[in-house]
Order: sequence, then C-alpha cells, then structure tokens
Amino acid sequence: MTERRRSRWREQVGDEMECARCGESRDSTDLDRMLWCEACVSGARTRAGRIGWISGGLVAGALALWIWLGVAPSMDLIPGGWLAVVVAAAWLGSKLAREVAFGVLRARE
Ligand SMILES: [Zn+2]
Repeated sequence: MTERRRSRWREQVGDEMECARCGESRDSTDLDRMLWCEACVSGARTRAGRIGWISGGLVAGALALWIWLGVAPSMDLIPGGWLAVVVAAAWLGSKLAREVAFGVLRARE
C-alpha cells in the first residue's frame, strides 16, 4: 500500500532527468523547457549579463567617439543631451546584447 502511494507520488512529481548542460541528475520539475537545471540557467544569465555590459560599454564608447569626432558638437551648448544619448545607448546596447547572448549561450550548449 505504502509502496503504491509512493510510486504514484513519484509519477506526479516526475522522474529524475539529466540536465542537458551539466548532466547532473535532477528531478524533472527542477528543469526548464530546455532541460537546464536552475544553476545552469542562472549561470548562463550571469555570463550573458557580463557580455551585455561589455557590449553596452563598447557601443557607448563608439558612439561617444563618433559624436566627439564626427558630429563634433559644441560642448558648451548641450553636453547633458549628448551624455544622455550615450548613456541611453549603453543601457539599450547592454540590454539587447544580454538578450542575444543569453539566447546564443542557450542554443549552443
Ligand atoms: Zn545543469
């Protein structure tokens, strides 16, 4: 009787499955759609976030250089406006790069 209830409980919770990335055995309810365990998902998210900030910094740097050399605005006019543009580009760039990096990381591994 006890044995039966136990097996039914296991059916509901799900079987042990291996994480598609690290190969560790987990309960299937702990894995997401792509069969990644939580540790692997958060690890990929952290790395994607780092890639995002680096990319956002590069985008902002390139834009600042372009504004400085290409547009050459008079800095006593609206320095705050240009700064806002660069900051917005860094923020958007990092957000976008993070999403792309997360998708690429998940598709590859
Ligand atoms: Zn894993």
